[in-house]
Amino acid sequence: RFEYAPAPESRAIVDIKSSYGLFINGAFTEATDGKPFKTVSPASEEVLAEISEAGPADVDKAVKAARKAYDKVWGTMPGRDRAKYLYRIARLIQERSRELAVLESLDNGKPIRESRDVDLPLVAAHFFYYAGWADKLEYAGAGENPQPLGVAAQVIPWNFPLMMLAWKIAPALAAGNTVVLKPAETTPLTALAFAEICQQADLPPGVVNIITGAGRTGQALVEHEGVDKVAFTGSTAVGRAIAKSVAGTDKKVTLELGGKAANIVFEDAPIDQTIEGIVNGIFFNQGHVCCAGSRLLVQESVYDEVLARLKRRMGTLRVGDPLDKNTDIGAINSAEQLARIRELSQVGEDEGAERWSPECELPTQGYWFAPTVFTGVSQAHRIAREEIFGPVLSVLTFRTPAEAVEKANNTPFGLSAGVWTDKGSRILWMADQLRAGVVWANTFNRFDPTSPFGGYKESGYGREGGRHGLEAYLAH
Ligand code: NAD
Repeated sequence: RFEYAPAPESRAIVDIKSSYGLFINGAFTEATDGKPFKTVSPASEEVLAEISEAGPADVDKAVKAARKAYDKVWGTMPGRDRAKYLYRIARLIQERSRELAVLESLDNGKPIRESRDVDLPLVAAHFFYYAGWADKLEYAGAGENPQPLGVAAQVIPWNFPLMMLAWKIAPALAAGNTVVLKPAETTPLTALAFAEICQQADLPPGVVNIITGAGRTGQALVEHEGVDKVAFTGSTAVGRAIAKSVAGTDKKVTLELGGKAANIVFEDAPIDQTIEGIVNGIFFNQGHVCCAGSRLLVQESVYDEVLARLKRRMGTLRVGDPLDKNTDIGAINSAEQLARIRELSQVGEDEGAERWSPECELPTQGYWFAPTVFTGVSQAHRIAREEIFGPVLSVLTFRTPAEAVEKANNTPFGLSAGVWTDKGSRILWMADQLRAGVVWANTFNRFDPTSPFGGYKESGYGREGGRHGLEAYLAH
């Protein structure tokens, strides 16, 4: 065991208020008709702050503020001026990134190494990238004279709170839309810090509105008649409900939903890199990743070696305090999510798969789950079909590339996939055959603002990132 444990990243650098209002029309305001709720640290169960719930009257106020800002200021502002604000926001995120990373790890439970080295740099990069588009739209071949859609209602999940916010807000603002965004109820703090950044950047009031609350707030927002565009990331069940509720209206919709990605290992794969890729694929962010490589497909000839080395590597993963820089796997985001992971893992055992975890002591306070691998999994097993959204890997085998493709595509989802092989022609063939929006080759969970991301089938529709992500906010 690795014994050296430097002091955890200090939480003293974040200034968390005891309670937060809603950010509407450029100011924090009290909710008029909702009940406050608490956000807790999943690692300690400590209450971090009291959060306001936006009721229907608050939602209405936020949408009207966004409409006014769109009509009077943002929708007609020259692109180069919108770009200035977006660059300013991007720089403020960079300046405050250490603090934002600590806040994210506290509220979400993810390891500080990830929030600091992955989430925050990507959040800033997203704003820089879309700032660059704002004054170039008319030359981009994105249509004769692309127009913004108007007011965007954006609802996001808890697994990458600030990154999902960036994916939603940056392209919307670059294209000239105004937004009302609702973060997930378990992770509102970085979205509220982002509201402060909008104030610091002197963003005109009403261009960005942040309202907090649970599902019913999200529902009131997407159903509001003043909304022109709905962008949702979350579960397939809620995505379906949203698609139904906006059917028959003129609202444009993009949905980023669940996944059950296959991570496919061929016998000629570079083994060290592959083991790291498998570990990153499923244990990054506690497996709370829609594109997580949760189904490992291994070619039979290398199965024993891959499994032995994977287990050895899993034994070195450190589970614990998200603010400790040595932590690999942090806390599960909520008691509900932990219950779901436990339940599906039990189903895996009951269905006859073999469960294995390295010996690891879990903290007694907070929500924790040890890295887990299931072998002897068949395609019919629920753990091979349903999204667990936790640090749980299901392993299946295959003999031929055609069988790998068939098994990989045998899922109601189609968000991502990974291919590990030394053979370039096989990568191209697999990328063509796999029904997944993203296919990684000899890497996994790589994101870049220039690159579109989104799914097929039950993983939703529409793309975020790159020029595609911008077009989702433009009318032609
Ligand atoms: P969820 O669908 O329960 O909640 C997502 C958001 O929707 C939250 O803000 C929630 O308050 C809100 N919401 C809940 N009910 C609503 C309703 N009826 N109307 C409007 N809004 C409502 O999902 P979750 O548990 O927060 O997130 C996990 C899911 O998100 C997983 O299935 C995961 O795969 C998916 N996800 C997908 C992507 C992607 O890009 N495809 C990214 C991250 C997460």
